[in-house]
Amino acid sequence: MQTEFDVIVIGAGHAGVEASLAVSKMGFTVGLVSMDINAIGRMSCNPAIGGTAKGHLVKEIDALGGVMGVIADKTGIQFKMLNRSKGPAVWSPRCQSDKDLYSLEAATQINKNTGIQIIEDMVNSLDVEDISENNNEGYKFKIKGIKTEKGNYYKSKSVIITSGTFLNAIMHTGKSQISGGRIGEKSATGLSECLLGLGFVTGRLKTGTPPRLDINTIDFSKTEEQAGDSSPVAFSYRTDKSSFPSQKQISCFITYTNADTHDILRTGFEDSPMFTGRIKGIGPRYCPSIEDKISRFSEKPRHHIFLEPETLDGETIYMNGFSTSLPVEVQEKAARTIPGLEKVKIVKQGYAVEYDFFPTYQTKLTLETKIVSGLYVAGQINGTSGYEEAAAQGFVAGVNAALKLKNEEPFILKRSEGYIGVLIDDLINKTPDEPYRMFTSSAEYRLILRQDNADIRLMQKGYELGLIDRELIDNLNQKIQLIHDAKNFFDKNTLLPKDVNSFLSSVGSSEITQGEFISSLIKRNFVNTKELLNYIINTDGLKDKRLVKRVLDNEEVLEQIDIEIKYSGYIKRQNDVVETFNKNEELKIPENFKYDKLKSISAEAMEKLSKVKPRSIGQAMRISGVRPSDISALMIYMRG
Ligand SMILES: Cc1cc2nc3c(=O)[nH]c(=O)nc-3n(C[C@H](O)[C@H](O)[C@H](O)COP(=O)(O)OP(=O)(O)OC[C@H]3O[C@@H](n4cnc5c(N)ncnc54)[C@H](O)[C@@H]3O)c2cc1C
Repeated sequence: MQTEFDVIVIGAGHAGVEASLAVSKMGFTVGLVSMDINAIGRMSCNPAIGGTAKGHLVKEIDALGGVMGVIADKTGIQFKMLNRSKGPAVWSPRCQSDKDLYSLEAATQINKNTGIQIIEDMVNSLDVEDISENNNEGYKFKIKGIKTEKGNYYKSKSVIITSGTFLNAIMHTGKSQISGGRIGEKSATGLSECLLGLGFVTGRLKTGTPPRLDINTIDFSKTEEQAGDSSPVAFSYRTDKSSFPSQKQISCFITYTNADTHDILRTGFEDSPMFTGRIKGIGPRYCPSIEDKISRFSEKPRHHIFLEPETLDGETIYMNGFSTSLPVEVQEKAARTIPGLEKVKIVKQGYAVEYDFFPTYQTKLTLETKIVSGLYVAGQINGTSGYEEAAAQGFVAGVNAALKLKNEEPFILKRSEGYIGVLIDDLINKTPDEPYRMFTSSAEYRLILRQDNADIRLMQKGYELGLIDRELIDNLNQKIQLIHDAKNFFDKNTLLPKDVNSFLSSVGSSEITQGEFISSLIKRNFVNTKELLNYIINTDGLKDKRLVKRVLDNEEVLEQIDIEIKYSGYIKRQNDVVETFNKNEELKIPENFKYDKLKSISAEAMEKLSKVKPRSIGQAMRISGVRPSDISALMIYMRG
């Protein structure tokens, strides 16, 4: 049995899976220690991947060489592109997953990697060496290894903690409080206390989950059917489109709560752990429990309930929208007032879980902690919520652990480069005090950070890290070249009235009276780019028919050209803003800058800057509590 690894990853959830695979693919050995080896990549809550902004994260992880998109494609049982009626910046891919297959596939990805050894155990403390006297980066300790519940010691140069909702976790349903991080799984003890002993600060958060229902007790005829997209789109650039989707595709169903449901739920309020103060941790505001919804939005007569199959052939339905920690009897009685659920049986009750997290001002943009060199934190332990947010952080922590071992520059994505950059920048600079989830509104440059161009933005970086194959990058370069050539051609070539007027009038667009550039025709409101190109390819006036045919044969290229031309004005304006943003990011602040040298900044700025230790002026500007006058003082001092 191996007892020494380059990197140890604690926890095999969504963050742990990405972290382990990134480290291993970058050439280092991994000890993946998790309490239950059958729970690799387990979906604790809803059986779905992606959705608004989360879908962007999955596409970015995939473009960089992570696995979440690959697993989702293999195990998805309903695919949908959300927000199609809005602009392309907010289109978001989502899939319903078979949660058992998802976990099996995550385990397969780990198992086929010979550099990863899975160890079933609980880590209860870290072994560190005091280096406070001999480093100039501000670390107090250096990681040496971990100790486990079974009494084993594993040596390692680097450790990544991805403990999810498990640290000192307590599950609540009504008056019942049970120690555990997820139903049927125990809580992780010892590690929080060890981190506190090293000088870290901890906090408490909570999240909740709805009941799972027996499929045979639901009358679906009283609900509305929701089918997936007729032409599903895969998440991963590596998925073979000819055999996608690989699983049978199924429907979900919608029903609604009503006044009776709300009245019954209210009868449980006096036993509610939330309303009686037994739960101290702060919950996700954007994903409230049903009791929260009816008390905060009492004027609303009904709430949506989505009935989502948890597996393809299984017997359980996830009751999305009905997250609750009310007593079980109240959960079932209230559910039975909902159309279609009159005879429903609850197979697994809804519950809330409270757990320890570590506020992220204690962490760098690499996700390495500021106190212990070589110790990284990723996922729900950082105060986030969601599989995709966890996976993105796991990937970043894994890559940075490997780069540090290689003595190479860290991997940090800017806010202008990806949602992953926004996520980590927000975590470090704003240190959320409630569970953080990704929203498209959090990304100020969302017009350029679209889900459809994640490969163009990020795949080259994944290739440089050694996580993307040569073949993929070659395909990408051909795609970029074709987009460039076609846009250039459309910008420089005109069509005459005889070539396009009958098309323009057929789509309700005004006819032209003289030659007009193809790109300006594409820009028109009523003009669908694909229809226009399909039409003009048969006209005499089109000079390069071969080029247009190549565009029409490649859906991805066609989509990029369409968006880039139609939104060119907005995209240009956003790129100009990004240029200014990047200038401030380039103005570096020395790693261990002493802010007490700055006499003219406010006490609050001094405290926040010393805590966060920003790497650049741009980052310093985004720290809450730091004012423009503080930044001016900092810049004057730095200019010397
Ligand atoms: C009840 C519940 C409800 C949720 N509701 C939502 C929701 O509504 N929306 C949402 O977006 N997300 C929700 N989540 C959160 C979602 O499950 C997480 O965001 C996501 O799984 C976090 O991934 P992770 O990798 O950080 O941790 P997890 O997926 O939780 O995995 C952590 C892993 O670490 C292991 N582990 C922990 N400590 C140790 C240790 N000391 N030693 C060894 N192994 C250890 C655990 O066994 C586990 O396998 C919910 C989670 C739960 C439990």
